[in-house]
Amino acid sequence: MKTSLAIPVHKTASSRLAQTDFSNLVFGKTISDHMFVADYKNGEWTDLRIEPYAPLQLNPSNAALHYGQSIFEGMKAYKNEEGEILIFRADANWKRMNESAERMCMPSLPEEVFMEGMLQLLDLDRDWVPTAKGASLYIRPFMFATDDYIGVKPSDTYKFIIFTCPVGNYYSKPVSVKVETKFTRATEGGTGAAKTAGNYAASLYPALQAQKAGYDQLLWTDGKSHSNIEESGTMNVMFKINGTLITAPLHTGTILKGITRNSVVQLANDWNQPIEERFLSVSELKEALENGTLEEAFGTGTAATIAHIAKIHIDGKDYVLPEKPADAFSHKVLAALDGIKYGSQKDPHNWIIKL
Ligand SMILES: *Cc1c(COP(=O)(O)O)cnc(C)c1O
Repeated sequence: MKTSLAIPVHKTASSRLAQTDFSNLVFGKTISDHMFVADYKNGEWTDLRIEPYAPLQLNPSNAALHYGQSIFEGMKAYKNEEGEILIFRADANWKRMNESAERMCMPSLPEEVFMEGMLQLLDLDRDWVPTAKGASLYIRPFMFATDDYIGVKPSDTYKFIIFTCPVGNYYSKPVSVKVETKFTRATEGGTGAAKTAGNYAASLYPALQAQKAGYDQLLWTDGKSHSNIEESGTMNVMFKINGTLITAPLHTGTILKGITRNSVVQLANDWNQPIEERFLSVSELKEALENGTLEEAFGTGTAATIAHIAKIHIDGKDYVLPEKPADAFSHKVLAALDGIKYGSQKDPHNWIIKL
């Protein structure tokens, strides 16, 4: 992809690349040398620039710190055998970021600010994209309010930043989950569909209770009746029952519109794998676990792509899922997505942006 926007670059005088141990990467702890920054004031995005990754200066009265006008995105870039950088569906992340922005009364970002900022940053830091099998560069765009004002109102000024983190082979162990029927992640009319900071702050306490009880994550249910499965902490979830995949629909506005979810739905349709976007009730899930018709359960999200669920806790009872056969849908879809992301397979839906 050709880039055209002129973005001034201030390069770091002391790259951290040489002292970075790429064989021991902890997700989200290692940050690449540079960041892309843009400021919003007087109704427009200005002062686009790339500079060394460094602390920000904020006033204690910064509005985002008090009232949470803050949104983020997350996607990944991969290196193919030729050393080219392949970015997976970043255009979808740009669109979703603007949907989050609208819900949180924040300004939308023009496509070229998001895309060109990202591409030019990745081009400069291309040596930070790992080459080890299964490794990738996690890209974190985010936007937050910068008004120095502690009244509750939408800020007039904002900052948009993109930084990146090399991440290792994210082999996710099968996870155990607890169906949550007391606490609520999202409710109709709320902010569940927005990738906004407060949603994650509010989920920490219930998730910690589940972890103390020995589970990795929660399976959230709807906020009204707690009878339908919605999604997990940072993943959408899918169940294969009697040969049919089932995943929660998006129309209630309580589910984060995962790009991995959307990609899995698309591939299932390509392969004529029956898939239903509808709510699965907790009792239906329980029944399928009890009568052996639940074949697979997995989370979908950028970090792990596919996370197998091995144990589900419902109403005081643990259900252990059967071992999955080698030809399980979740194995097949993970292999297909990896093939597209690393450029070893055709990309029939034009999901890859090449740099
Ligand atoms: C980011 C996120 C997802 C997964 O979205 P992807 O685009 O697939 O990474 C699912 N649920 C929640 C709550 C999320 O924050």
